[in-house]
Amino acid sequence: MEYKSIWSDIKREDSYSKLNENISCDVLIIGGGITGISTAYHLCDKDLKIVLVDRSIITNSTSAKNTGKITYLQGNIYSKIKNLYNLEKAKMYLNSQKEAIRLIDGIINKENINCDYQKQKSILFATSLKEKKLIQKEKELLTKMGIKVEEEKSPVYNISVNDTYYFHPVKYLLSLAKIISEKNVTIYENTLIRNIEEKDNFYLTSTKNYKIKSKYVVIATHYPFFLIPLFFPLKGYIEKSYLSASLVNNNNNNNNNNYTSGITPNKGSISFRFHNTNNNNYFIYLNGTHKLMNKYNNRKNFNNLSNLLLKKNIIPNYMWSNCDIITNDYLPYIGKVKNNLFIGTGYNTWGITNGTIAGKIISDLILNNKNIYSDIFNPNRSTPLMSILTDVISSAKPYIENKIIKNKNYLKGRVLFTKIKGKDVGIYYDDNNKKHIVYNKCPHLKCNLIFNEIEKTWDCPCHSSRFDLDGFCIKGPSNYDITHKSNNP
Ligand SMILES: Cc1cc2nc3c(=O)[nH]c(=O)nc-3n(C[C@H](O)[C@H](O)[C@H](O)COP(=O)(O)OP(=O)(O)OC[C@H]3O[C@@H](n4cnc5c(N)ncnc54)[C@H](O)[C@@H]3O)c2cc1C
Repeated sequence: MEYKSIWSDIKREDSYSKLNENISCDVLIIGGGITGISTAYHLCDKDLKIVLVDRSIITNSTSAKNTGKITYLQGNIYSKIKNLYNLEKAKMYLNSQKEAIRLIDGIINKENINCDYQKQKSILFATSLKEKKLIQKEKELLTKMGIKVEEEKSPVYNISVNDTYYFHPVKYLLSLAKIISEKNVTIYENTLIRNIEEKDNFYLTSTKNYKIKSKYVVIATHYPFFLIPLFFPLKGYIEKSYLSASLVNNNNNNNNNNYTSGITPNKGSISFRFHNTNNNNYFIYLNGTHKLMNKYNNRKNFNNLSNLLLKKNIIPNYMWSNCDIITNDYLPYIGKVKNNLFIGTGYNTWGITNGTIAGKIISDLILNNKNIYSDIFNPNRSTPLMSILTDVISSAKPYIENKIIKNKNYLKGRVLFTKIKGKDVGIYYDDNNKKHIVYNKCPHLKCNLIFNEIEKTWDCPCHSSRFDLDGFCIKGPSNYDITHKSNNP
């Protein structure tokens, strides 16, 4: 068993160089996940010079660690949107998801992309009476919005739709990256953006050593690395889930289960599906979803997941975790932030469809085309006050605890938190008793870090930045390291 995503276990044929000079372009896209690559795809046959940069390698972050479902049956999201806003907004969101599915289907067929793309029935199933009631309401609403929904009472109550799909997200995105890089898009990997400055009629974006001048900038970084103007921490919270993929049988394509993908309502705390790739059939199973700040013990959560699988006599081949942004009003933030600055984020764990529609909306806005979804997802929209308050109140306690209660030392003394010359540090003694010291403050919003003993990283429980053993930042929103000088005397 390996602690890595099933989708990352693929040989990459292409790599892209690191930025090593000052450059200029029409459109700069920051982030090579589904949002950035989809945006570039929709612009790649236009008369524009486009640059896409990623701090790491492309398609290696959130988009490489999901369950690969392409579906509009997303827990009880339509009831939530209707209750907070109205039926019209719920219907608009539904239409946007169906439009995204059509776009993905069109791209795969047009470009002849080999990415295990297959039709797969989506079911929403109940594990309690409370969930059954939520699902019945969702069914009523979906039917009212014109969706043909099947209902089954046993073995557990569930509703389902048939016109949904799955794919291998990394195969899809790497193929798109190849296509765009052969057109007018230059891709740079290992290029971390630290700052964006607005000048008179252009933007100047900086890495540590170089600058990129562009008319348009697209933020496709998942969590935005800047605070102003969006104040993103007030717009939602981060949710973390634990996933597994287990080889269940070979060449068994006739099994009906292979065509099923399921989820529970509300927080979608259980999700499963089958995935057929290279004649191998994998059971993908997700369990143990929590608000990132509330319950942070990687080993315990992975152990819970493998125990649940063991009860079903299933041995996992891959286990991994992934985080996504849950917005206060269950709608993503896609569109114009201010003059020629665009963003796509906040996908509520449905970023394959939302990242795809984001690519279309943002490219339409850049090209001055009308897009009917630009209002509903407007990043500057005001959300109902109650939804902001509920979120702020529920996040306040763990946030304050993180600030005032210092992390306890753990792992039998191999991880400790202390002060060196008045500064908070974290220390980890590795298997060879080598000492790794880091500053114990996330550069993003100064939260105290937690040591992730499974993946051997220092993780921020507030907004999911991550640092390697010696403090080099490997995941944002932080775009600075926490290296301590005593590691490099
Ligand atoms: C457990 C789980 C399961 C999921 N399953 C599904 C599913 O089945 N179906 C579905 O539709 N959605 C699913 N999702 C949601 C989906 O995976 C995400 O919403 C989506 O991948 C987000 O894509 P993105 O492009 O916004 O971000 P990412 O894929 O994270 O891409 C952002 C990129 O930006 C780069 N970057 C960040 N900061 C900088 C910087 N400063 N400079 C340069 N580059 C930078 C990063 O390196 C990264 O490559 C799931 C999410 C989770 C957590």
